[in-house]
Amino acid sequence: MLERREDLLGATFDCECGREHRVETREIIMGQDVLKNLPGLVARHLGEGRIYVVVDDRTREAAGQRVFDILKKAGVTVEIYVVSGYPKGDVETVAVVADAVQSAAGVITVGSGTVNDLGKAAAHQLGLPYFCVATAASMNGYTSSIAALVNSGLKTTVPTTPSLAVLCDLDVLAGAPLELTYAGLGDVVSKPVCNADWMLSHLLLGSHYCPRPFGLIKELEDVYLSRAGQLKDGDIETFAALSEALLYSGVSMCIAGSSAPASGAEHLISHTIDMRALLKGHEHDLHGAQVGVGTSFMVRLYHRFLKLSADSFRNQEPVDLDQLKKHLTDYWERNAAPVIEQTLQQFDEEGRPQVLPETIASRWDEIKERVTPFVAGAERIEQALRVAGAKYHPDQLGMTMGDFKTIVMECSYIRNRFTLLHVLRDAELLSDMTDQVLAEWTR
Ligand SMILES: [Zn+2]
Ligand SMILES: [Zn+2]
Repeated sequence: MLERREDLLGATFDCECGREHRVETREIIMGQDVLKNLPGLVARHLGEGRIYVVVDDRTREAAGQRVFDILKKAGVTVEIYVVSGYPKGDVETVAVVADAVQSAAGVITVGSGTVNDLGKAAAHQLGLPYFCVATAASMNGYTSSIAALVNSGLKTTVPTTPSLAVLCDLDVLAGAPLELTYAGLGDVVSKPVCNADWMLSHLLLGSHYCPRPFGLIKELEDVYLSRAGQLKDGDIETFAALSEALLYSGVSMCIAGSSAPASGAEHLISHTIDMRALLKGHEHDLHGAQVGVGTSFMVRLYHRFLKLSADSFRNQEPVDLDQLKKHLTDYWERNAAPVIEQTLQQFDEEGRPQVLPETIASRWDEIKERVTPFVAGAERIEQALRVAGAKYHPDQLGMTMGDFKTIVMECSYIRNRFTLLHVLRDAELLSDMTDQVLAEWTR
């Protein structure tokens, strides 16, 4: 059953994990010279009526104008809506886009990142069918069922309907700014860490785990890691592997019904950097660039973790929750409330963690055996980022080792998602082990 990746599209299927999964995205068209398929995609997924093409100034130039021209020539009733300037990915801008396209029968977004999130969230709000035309292999949001939006100064993910189809013209993707491609590479290489974290959560907290997501990306991983150095030359086959991995990374979140297979501790690191930048009014780097650095760090930390022995894990004194709340209030200032809410879910009323270190000690052999396959050989990830010319080290994000350590120490609190950072934090091993990793980590 469902042997090939593409058989999953639009399918509802019984999985070996014991659950039934449903993939909302029905069609992916990827290749060179594929924009000519647009009229067919509109007919299959958006139907009759006025179609709005949502772009920004840059994505209009990359492909948006061509999308509009092709559809117009094919006799489709089509309008173009340009989100001008450098659009913000916030709920206010979604409302503006939704207002502009409300008379549409369907929406096409042309763009990556923010434009994609805005068009997707607006179409979702209006209950309109939509699909997207990718302009960069920069993120996994094309097929995911969430949009990342800022709401009242806080970064949130809002549930949305995934794109019904995705059109990836590989010449358009290969022509995108390199830093966007590098961000895509940085985002997708996180899979071994996400899945190792997800396995820890499965073993220690009983979270549902499905092996499909990791399996989906695994076959493509060899191609984009071994050929990462060819991205800068616009090598079409490498772009195809990277894009496909990003698209199925989004699909894997639909399968899992959560972002767990594509978002572990390395994403907590990136989100914490974003949230601090938002709080302090600083700039931050691209999501995928930060995730790539977070992944390189986490792989190093995992390798140290797996060298520990059961007697490294001893129960500690319960956490003083009042003191912790005070600390979080000092660190997150006006944005502390949601962080504290997430933190309190990670401890009982007496300040004991969700998983006691002694539980880890008592199951150490099993944990080691189940987690090792994900991260064995994962040092080649940092190697691939280096060879590609992408970011792999805190220094490249403009951070000192001290800044980066602070982020590592804080990021387990921002979200109640169990990761290796939580395991080490609760065993009071995180600070020393982070120091050890940072001390040996040269650029
Ligand atoms: Zn990501
Ligand atoms: Zn499954």
